This record gives sequence, structure tokens and C-alpha cells, in this order.
Amino acid sequence: MAVLEILHYPDPRLRAIAKPVTQFGPELAQFIDDLLQTMYQSVGIGLAATQVNVAQRVVVLDVSRGGSSPRCFVNPEILELRGLATGEEGCLSVPETFELVERAEWIRVRAVNAQGEPFELECEGILAVCLQHEIDHLDGKLFVDRLSLLKRSRIRRKFDKAQRLGA
Ligand code: ZN
Repeated sequence: MAVLEILHYPDPRLRAIAKPVTQFGPELAQFIDDLLQTMYQSVGIGLAATQVNVAQRVVVLDVSRGGSSPRCFVNPEILELRGLATGEEGCLSVPETFELVERAEWIRVRAVNAQGEPFELECEGILAVCLQHEIDHLDGKLFVDRLSLLKRSRIRRKFDKAQRLGA
């Protein structure tokens, strides 16, 4: 297993649109293990392949906060969304930034597992929020895109400055 480097906002590579996974085998299984290890190492609850500069539709998450419920979604698709809920979100690609974001309260998702076997999941709460956030990454979207222009430009300035200082 390996810890991968996480891209930071405003890196343009975070805007890549990920392609569906078509090869299922030991290489994919290894990549999923690496993604999980990188997520746990960074104390995150979700990580998308886009964030480690791999433009493939793979996300991992574990909302248990104890490292006991790793989940992987390959080629995830949201089939249905219901309700609205506002919750605080952060992102390993936008460090130390937490803002309220409005998302669907309940979702139904279809994906395949590491072996390419299809499954569906209905979820709400933190799992639904985290999945929507991670699937956004696969489409090159970040949670800051969902904030007001004012908030977004404040965050952008903070990260531009950090980059200039080489942080
Ligand atoms: Zn994120």
C-alpha cells in the first residue's frame, strides 16, 4: 500500500472529468487500497481518484470515523435525489476550510464494486453528503463551487496566497 499525494485547490487538475473504469483486476484493487490508506492517513472521510490526479471514476469513503467501514464506489451514478439539507463540509483538497453547503438529503446511487459487480445503495445523512461531495470531484467540481461568489473569492485568495508563500 502507498500514501498518494493529494492535489490542493486551486490546482487545475482537480477540474479533470474522470473516465469510467473499464479494467477490473489487481491493479484497480491496489489503487483502491492506496486511496483508502491515503484517506485514513489524512484523517478524511472520503477521497476521490481525481484528488490524487487519477482521472478514473473511483471514490472511497468511511464515515464511521473509526476506520471500521471502508466503502468503495466505482463508476458511481446518482439515480435519485430527495429533499434538501445543509451541513458543514470540508475537503482534503481544500485544507482547513469548512463551510455550510446545501445538498440533497437522501440519494439513491448505483455503482460497481472493485470486482465490477453492480450494487445500489439508498442513503441519507453524512453518507449521502459525503457521496455527493465525492461524486462531484469525479466531474471536476469542488464544494467551494457551491458557495456564494463572495465566499469563493475569499477562499481563492487564501489559497493563492498560500501557494505564493510555498505552503
Ligand atoms: Zn473533497
